[in-house]
Amino acid sequence: MGKDRIPFPKTVFEFARWFPDDKACIDYLYQSRWPESFVCPKCGSTEDPYMLDKYKRIECSSCGHQTSVTAGTVLHRTRMPLTMWFEAAYHVGTYTPGISALQLQKHLGTSYETAFNMLHKLRAAMVRPERDRIHGKIEMDETFVGSPKPGKRGRGAEGKTIVLGAIEVLPAREKRTRSGRLRMRVVPDAKGETIVAFAKESVEPGSLILSDDLSSYDILAKHGYCHRVVASGSLDRIHMSFGNFKTWILGTHHGVSSKHMQAYVNEFVFRHNRRSTPMAAFQTILGLAAHIEGPTYEGLYAVGDEGGWVHPSA
Ligand SMILES: [Zn+2]
Repeated sequence: MGKDRIPFPKTVFEFARWFPDDKACIDYLYQSRWPESFVCPKCGSTEDPYMLDKYKRIECSSCGHQTSVTAGTVLHRTRMPLTMWFEAAYHVGTYTPGISALQLQKHLGTSYETAFNMLHKLRAAMVRPERDRIHGKIEMDETFVGSPKPGKRGRGAEGKTIVLGAIEVLPAREKRTRSGRLRMRVVPDAKGETIVAFAKESVEPGSLILSDDLSSYDILAKHGYCHRVVASGSLDRIHMSFGNFKTWILGTHHGVSSKHMQAYVNEFVFRHNRRSTPMAAFQTILGLAAHIEGPTYEGLYAVGDEGGWVHPSA
């Protein structure tokens, strides 16, 4: 029995039928939280509770403790209709290209700031809390994303944002998906110690890491990894992921500043890793799987590096 087995709407039309109003969203949240029956978080009573505030608040009929179906989720104390959050989470989590703030603004009829804020709150949930490391046979490479920073002159990649990526090469019997889980991170450079730090947080020691002949990768062999240099052209899984990421950044978001790049990396990686389990993605984004604090709009735009929201890496 897994959450993945709960039926999930396959199209946006089906989705609209399932969640026509806030009551339907609340019923869904209630069932996600208490799949068997209500359990009072204070006294453990399983008697049917009283529903208050149009079902938003729940009062235990034994001890009077009050709780809410949205407690601990990104939806808690929101002034937006739940149907809007549900729809945004559905777009973010299940559509292959995701959705931009501009598209969401038009779609929901909100202000741009509201749409932007919603997306970033939902994005904050796209970091897996347990963050397990990928393993086995891994392709690793770096890429340069975006346009050069203003004020920096130079050729080629100078001034662009560097992103490191690692992806599992699945054994032949699971070839239908070709590649396994993905990890990506924005890094300041492609030096040996940066690559080792990324490998240590993303890949289990003992794994076989394939890279091109950039000498920075040689250091991996000294840190518990099997490292093999291969022709750059054969790293097709990680190259395809980088290509898809850049297409998405340009096509859906029309470019992203380096300051926010890690958040978009997280979203891309999240969707890649859950492309076959949209239900789990939807629940995680809404915060039904774990309590994750989202960034505030002010935090996102804090001046300087102090006090601002730091996007955790996926
Ligand atoms: Zn109680």
